[in-house]
Amino acid sequence: MKNIIIFGAPGSGKGTYSDEIVKKYGMGHISTGDVLRAEIKGGTELGKIAKGYIDNGQLIPDELMIDILAKTYDAIPKGKGVIFDGFPRTIDQAEALKVMLKDRGDDMGMMIELVVGEDVLMERLLKRAVEQGRADDNEETIKKRFEVYRTQTAPLAAWFEKEGIRHIVEWTGNKETTLDKVFAVIENA
Ligand code: ATP
Ligand code: MG
Repeated sequence: MKNIIIFGAPGSGKGTYSDEIVKKYGMGHISTGDVLRAEIKGGTELGKIAKGYIDNGQLIPDELMIDILAKTYDAIPKGKGVIFDGFPRTIDQAEALKVMLKDRGDDMGMMIELVVGEDVLMERLLKRAVEQGRADDNEETIKKRFEVYRTQTAPLAAWFEKEGIRHIVEWTGNKETTLDKVFAVIENA
């Protein structure tokens, strides 16, 4: 099974669809957001550093993030491929991921970009704020995360296009039919 990079704005469903892909294909799953939140919960040094950035809607610095990603990748089983959820988020992270995988005889596989309008994203994230109480799911921080996504992360789509592995899945208005499109991409790529 190929590796998969799930790409998209905050609230686009990266975590939700990653879980569905894991259920169906039994792949490994790396969510950098979840890794960071676990560090914060555990009160580690890394968690303390990460919290300052996350609560402000900013990205963790590339060097630190790349190091965390490599350690996480090396620690999980990779027989059925790995889903990268929330990484890379900058061009430097993407370049580093490509090199890291090549060094290990692996490759990026495919990138799946989830395209969802910002009004739908905001509605979802505000709903999640009530359900899950994530510190960065408040209207002010969400707006900052959208801005960070537009300026630092969205330009990466063209980078993946050049790599020849970009696949776009647009939100259909319905979770099941969008998920079917995601599975179709995976099976035809
Ligand atoms: P969602 O999970 O709903 O798609 P999201 O993409 O904003 O929303 P996470 O991926 O969980 O949420 O990330 C939460 C925060 O963790 C980010 O706003 C950022 O501060 C930090 N973070 C996660 N991944 C990275 C990364 N690759 N580089 C830098 N910071 C990161
Ligand atoms: Mg997530």
